[in-house]
Amino acid sequence: MITDLFLAVMILAVVELKVYVGIRKERKGNGEIMIWYPYVQMKSMKTPYKVKKAKGVYIYTEDKKLIDSVSSWWSAIHGYSNEEINEAAIDQINNFSHVMLGGLNHDPALELAEKLKEILPGDLNHVFFSDSGSVAVEVSLKMAIQYYNNKGMSKKKEIIALKEAYHGDTFKAMAVGDDADYHKAFPEKEGIYHICPKIEELEAILEKRHDKIAVFIVEPLLQGAAGMKMYDIQFLEEARKLCDRYDVIFIFDEVATGFGRTGNKFVSELVIPDIIVLGKALTGGYVGHAATVANQKIYEGFYSDDPSKAFMHGPTFMGNALACRIALKSLDIFLRDDYMDKIKKIERILIDSLKNLKSHKIKDIRVMGACACIEVYDAKDLQGFSQFAYTHGVWNRTFLNFMYTMPPYIIEEEELLKIVKVFKKWFDRE
Ligand SMILES: *Cc1c(COP(=O)(O)O)cnc(C)c1O
Repeated sequence: MITDLFLAVMILAVVELKVYVGIRKERKGNGEIMIWYPYVQMKSMKTPYKVKKAKGVYIYTEDKKLIDSVSSWWSAIHGYSNEEINEAAIDQINNFSHVMLGGLNHDPALELAEKLKEILPGDLNHVFFSDSGSVAVEVSLKMAIQYYNNKGMSKKKEIIALKEAYHGDTFKAMAVGDDADYHKAFPEKEGIYHICPKIEELEAILEKRHDKIAVFIVEPLLQGAAGMKMYDIQFLEEARKLCDRYDVIFIFDEVATGFGRTGNKFVSELVIPDIIVLGKALTGGYVGHAATVANQKIYEGFYSDDPSKAFMHGPTFMGNALACRIALKSLDIFLRDDYMDKIKKIERILIDSLKNLKSHKIKDIRVMGACACIEVYDAKDLQGFSQFAYTHGVWNRTFLNFMYTMPPYIIEEEELLKIVKVFKKWFDRE
């Protein structure tokens, strides 16, 4: 007994607290603040315009007041600095901005999950939060593959996606994407098949490989980054039946299409997927947040007495209280102010005003909901357009062969017509 105690004291005595000190060096500041910008060759990049303020549909730079015709990458559906959302955000910050969702929860996250369950169709009820669209896509793919793993069907792990798909820039999201312009340095596509939105193509591959295929993922109706490519709902209706027949999980990546952009609140209202991915407009363009919402079947594939069947994913900022409070207010306004009606009006104005846009340079003009795209034959014919639009008071960025608008839904008719007028002016130049 005494020797035991003696030994314990001895051991305690030899264990010392260790303190590790990182090496601190004086920083040599050369005054250069370096942001690495997205999708651009830094060497030839034009200096970005500095924004001083943004309000409603307008962005104010140092020398210009610009109508934002692209809603800051399709997210700012209420425009900027909406007073009600500002107030909700400030209230939440004054209470708290973030606590971890592991072992804790709070009203903003609980209410947003409840609200999403309420407005989404069918039994899309189980909400997994994350910080961006790309991560939410990763989450959806992991859910689908682990679903079959949990069922002892680990062979089912391959994925079908659409040609020219874009699902984000993280590794698996990039792999299910099919856009060489974005991801040519990362060609890894093992176990991933890309098809056209044609039912024969889907049927052919499912017939052959259904015992290995876990997922069919699509951007429903509107493929944004592909150049606002549009296809009909019939494909999704037929695809839903095939996914059921061949036991394949159907995922709708509605990061871009969700919250009205196609003229449907969600395309999922027309055809119900097993998992829907939401991002971009979820928070009205205020802060990054996203949600992967699964149906009962998927959820039950994880619900078990076996801890190893749990879903192993957890972004640090998932369910961020500030983001959830903002998303709730954004959704309130969306529903209260009848945004679907605004979107119908935008669609009508776009169709009417683009009807008489003619040029031998234009290959196609298409409109769906609050989205219009002018495709030219030669990308060179759009070079300089962003600068041209800027001088005419419109913020727009073309990419490849595509000039497009996805305006904030609060845009007034005359503002929308001004965007179209600048498009026309560009083609009327010579
Ligand atoms: C923008 C987008 C993503 C990626 O979202 P991030 O928030 O940029 O990571 C994924 N899927 C689609 C369809 C998108 O438009």
